[in-house]
Amino acid sequence: MPAKVYTNKDADLRALRHKTLGVIGYGSQGHAHALNLKDSGLKVIVGLYPQSKSVKVARKHGFEVYSSAEVAQKADIIMLAVPDMKQADVYTNDLLPHLGKGKTLLFSHGFAIHYDLIKPPRGIDVIMVAPKGPGHVVRSQYLEGKGVPALIAVAKGSSRNAKNNALAWAKGIGATRAGVLQTSFKEETETDLFGEQTVLCGGASALITAGFETLVEAGYQPEMAYFECLHELKLIVDMMVESGISGMRFTVSETAKWGDVSRGPRVINKATKRTMKAILKDIQSGKFAKEWVNEYNGGLKNYNALLKEGDEHLIEKTGQRLRGLMPWIKKKNLKGAQAAY
Ligand code: NAP
Ligand code: MG
Repeated sequence: MPAKVYTNKDADLRALRHKTLGVIGYGSQGHAHALNLKDSGLKVIVGLYPQSKSVKVARKHGFEVYSSAEVAQKADIIMLAVPDMKQADVYTNDLLPHLGKGKTLLFSHGFAIHYDLIKPPRGIDVIMVAPKGPGHVVRSQYLEGKGVPALIAVAKGSSRNAKNNALAWAKGIGATRAGVLQTSFKEETETDLFGEQTVLCGGASALITAGFETLVEAGYQPEMAYFECLHELKLIVDMMVESGISGMRFTVSETAKWGDVSRGPRVINKATKRTMKAILKDIQSGKFAKEWVNEYNGGLKNYNALLKEGDEHLIEKTGQRLRGLMPWIKKKNLKGAQAAY
C-alpha cells in the first residue's frame, strides 16, 4: 500500500494555539521554522547562547530571545535546531533540568535520538518534523504560499497528542501544503544519511569532479568541462524533479538518450552499488555515527583538510569566474545567503 500523504486537511493548527513554541538555534532550520510558525499566528520564542551572532537578527525579526535554559522553562514544545553534534551538550546542560512531564522535544533530524546521543526522560513527547529541503527554501516557499515536503515521526513512549502536534507544526511551517509522510526516527536518520552520502552531496560532488577532471586531463579547456559537468546538471535535475527520469529523457536528443542508457550503467555500475550497500551498512550499524562523533570531538582535522582540498580544486576557480558572467546565479550564492536570515 502506498504511504499516506498528509496535507492541510489532516492537520489542525489549534493543537498549538495555546502553546508556547521554543526554537533553539536560529540558523538554517531554526530561522525558517520560527518565522513560518510566527506568520502562521503561533506564539514562538527563540533560544540562543549569549554571544550568538543570531541574537540581533532574531530580535530584528520580532522574536523574544532567551537562553536555551529559559526557553526550556517557558516553552511547551522545544525544537532543538542547533547542529547535530552540539545537540547533546545543549540538551544535557540547558534543557534536561527543565524537561518536566508534558513537555515536547522536537527535532528536524533524528541523528541524536537514533544514535542515543540524547536519551530523553519518560513522560515527555519526542517528535520530529524534518523538511526535505534546506531552511532558506522552507522560508522562501512559505512566503510564496507553497511548502517544502516534510517527514514527521513520533518516538516510542510519547503521548497520544504527539502526532497531532507534529502534524500541526508541519502545517505551521507550510509543509502540509506540499505533503507530509510519517516515518520513524530510525528510518529518517538512516535514509537521510544515505541520501546525502551517496547521491545528493557525496555522490553528486564526486561524479561532477570526476567528469571535470577527465575532460581537463584529456586537454580540454576547464571552462568547457565546467559547463558540461556542473552547470548543465541543474537543467537536467530540474527536468527530473518536474517530470521524472523519463520526462528528462523525453526532452534531450536521441543521441543523448542513447548515450544515457548505454553509458550511464558503465559509470555507476555493480561495483558502485556494492559500495553503496557497504556505506548503508555503516550507517545502520552506527559505525558512521561513531566515526563522525570522534572526528568532531577530535577537532575536525580530517574534515577541514578534505574540505580545503575541495575548495582549492580547479573546478572552484573555474566556476567562480564563469558564475561571475551570470550575475543572476551569483545573487543566489549560498555562502552569502546566511547574512539574509
Ligand atoms: P545551523 O544552520 O548551523 O544553525 C545552528 C544554530 O544553532 C545557529 O543559530 C547557532 O548559533 C545556534 N547554536 C549553536 N550552538 C548553540 C548553543 N550552544 N546554544 C544555542 N544555540 C546554538 O544548523 P542547521 O543546519 O539549521 O541544523 C539544525 C538541525 O536541522 C540539525 O538537526 C540538522 O540536521 C537539521 N536539518 C538541517 C537542514 C539544513 O538544510 N541545514 C535540513 C534538514 C534538517 P549562531 O547563529 O551564533 O551560529
Ligand atoms: Mg541530511
